[in-house]
Amino acid sequence: MTADISPVPNRRTETRHATSGNACNHFLKYGMTCDNFDRLLARAAGRCELCKTPEEQTQRGALVIDHFQGEGLFFVRGLICDRCNSVMARHDRSAEWGPASLPWADKARAYHLAAFEQPTPLDFAQADQYIASRRPYNVKDRPHIPITPRKTLVVRLDRSMTEAADKLRRHLTDRQRERLIELLSKPM
Ligand SMILES: [Zn+2]
Ligand SMILES: [Zn+2]
Repeated sequence: MTADISPVPNRRTETRHATSGNACNHFLKYGMTCDNFDRLLARAAGRCELCKTPEEQTQRGALVIDHFQGEGLFFVRGLICDRCNSVMARHDRSAEWGPASLPWADKARAYHLAAFEQPTPLDFAQADQYIASRRPYNVKDRPHIPITPRKTLVVRLDRSMTEAADKLRRHLTDRQRERLIELLSKPM
């Protein structure tokens, strides 16, 4: 066995993929060391890991680091294109599947399970639980709910009791009236 003499990764050591000696994005944003990022680059081999489109043919001409976050879990899944990034948002239920993304559901699932930073089966189960608990919000699916302003009923008891009773009779539902009589009939 050899002793581990590698330095603790920090913003001074993880600079290989950045310009002007700054710390790499993969380290600052995902805590991923340069060595691990090189392994990820090698695994992707210049293509989106989900749709396999070569990096230079993707919309932005660049692949992005995709990660899963939630339920106390954080793991890098891989390098993907922008389009597949939005497919994974559907997989993670931060958005609804649509006609364009749905055909990718199975591949998205397989890709998720082949996450680069491979979590334990228990962590995967926990991630699924978190995903299942999410309710994706889609403004198009929002039902139209008319807003009815709450009415405030003012009954002045300093006038006549008949007047007050009339007003209550007119404004209360049968159930509310019954309940009120019940409460007033209670011995003090
Ligand atoms: Zn780096
Ligand atoms: Zn892709």
